[in-house]
Amino acid sequence: MTSDEILIPELLVAGGLERGGGSADVENPATGMSLGSIPMATLEQLDRAVIAAARTREWRLDAALRQSALEAMAAIVLANRDDLARTLSLEIGLPYKVAQDEVSAAAGFLQYRAGERHEPEVLHDDARQRVETVRAPIGVVGAIIPWNAPVLIACEKIATAFAAGNSVIVKPSPLAGVTLLQLGALFQPLLPAGVLSVLPGDADFGEALVRHSGVGMISFTGSVRAGQAIMAAAAPGLKRLSLELGGNDAAIVLPDADPRSVATKLFWGAFYRTGQVCAGIKRVYVHKDIAAPLTEALRSAVEGAVLGDPFDANTMLGPLSNRQQFEIIAHMVPEARAAGATLIAGGNPTGGGGYFFQPTLMTVEDDDNPLVREEQFGPALPILSYATVDEAVDRANATQLGLGGSVWGTDTDEAIGVARRLQTGSAWVNRHGLVLPDIPFGGFKMSGVGRANGRPGFDSYSELQTISVAKPR
Ligand code: NAD
Repeated sequence: MTSDEILIPELLVAGGLERGGGSADVENPATGMSLGSIPMATLEQLDRAVIAAARTREWRLDAALRQSALEAMAAIVLANRDDLARTLSLEIGLPYKVAQDEVSAAAGFLQYRAGERHEPEVLHDDARQRVETVRAPIGVVGAIIPWNAPVLIACEKIATAFAAGNSVIVKPSPLAGVTLLQLGALFQPLLPAGVLSVLPGDADFGEALVRHSGVGMISFTGSVRAGQAIMAAAAPGLKRLSLELGGNDAAIVLPDADPRSVATKLFWGAFYRTGQVCAGIKRVYVHKDIAAPLTEALRSAVEGAVLGDPFDANTMLGPLSNRQQFEIIAHMVPEARAAGATLIAGGNPTGGGGYFFQPTLMTVEDDDNPLVREEQFGPALPILSYATVDEAVDRANATQLGLGGSVWGTDTDEAIGVARRLQTGSAWVNRHGLVLPDIPFGGFKMSGVGRANGRPGFDSYSELQTISVAKPR
């Protein structure tokens, strides 16, 4: 294979590998060149996948079988880490090392759920009765995946759904489906037929999955707009829902923070994966007394960032992952300037092939500036200064999104106090965006419904069943 070639596997449908019914072009975002085409699933394949997924009685009942499958899946992901990472890098432009880290983290999510045990909770056990609650599987889970971290997000959903006894239909984004097809082909020999299908498709196909009468739960990660459409489409069937949606995370830098030491962390919190992280820093609020040195330290971090070939070991930031996201940023940055933002660093596409955009830093006064108001999901960060902590908290909370937020300062207790006032599912102190399998993650307000990870994540993929037994008198 030349450096740019990838093998595009077939679809995993009801236990077998099959061709799709159509295809979509796959572009290498680092070059703009075609990598081939990804097969798309048909509605007939969806029907067969759902029927097979519902006929998995042994899987539902046998926790040990599922746990050993999850262990084997984690092992095969790790054994194929570099190959999967290479495809992921080609497909969405992640620096190769970052792609390797994503694949390793995905294996960690599989391992975490492989070790999960849940005992019934006994509520009454006396002469008259025994009453306990257990967690029962929902049945067939549709897992709809975005393009920005497909391996991690798919493995997190598959692992949790499997641990709870469900079977899963994964629907990758057509913009990031190749690595997930590879994953499906790797998992196929490890799993009973039907417990996993991998069916790439567009938004209409996703909606057909949501509406399918055989599907009991939709676990979706992606944009607010698609989340709203999914909630509406799930309403007639009263489907169980887990929605992990967009964020507009604020970082509040308190007056006692050391600008130089926080700048590097803020830089990575905002620009990691070229800013395409749901819980990345999307706005920085800095106290006016340290606004100048912090802006300077951030400028230096941004100007020092090495942008380039994802396979070059020196590369810190890759391109935007697709044309659509590149165009959003290429419009939003000039729009922000026209609305009064002052450019500090970057500001332009780099030109040449591929969807590279310079890491961009702007100072902004007005919270109504599009770069502040909207989720940019790209390498452009606004810095805003504030006078009082109350003002900073109010401005950070003045959004319908509430995924994450962070507070930075030397007095940790004070920073924790401020963090607790953020209306966000995760409130970090002197860090941002840490997501681990055992730590609940999700959004307040329009950033989502439910929580992924940890025990709350497991609970959302299962039904609570009460077993109530009368004892003989
Ligand atoms: P998107 O919403 O456009 O697409 C996500 C997935 O949903 C894709 O597979 C797409 O084909 C499918 N889809 C779109 N419309 C649908 C519909 N009406 N019915 C069913 N399926 C539909 O999002 P994206 O552009 O792929 O990802 C970027 C967004 O995802 C950002 O807003 C980001 O913040 C968010 N995100 C959130 C998290 C989180 O955990 N909260 C994680 C990653 C990304």
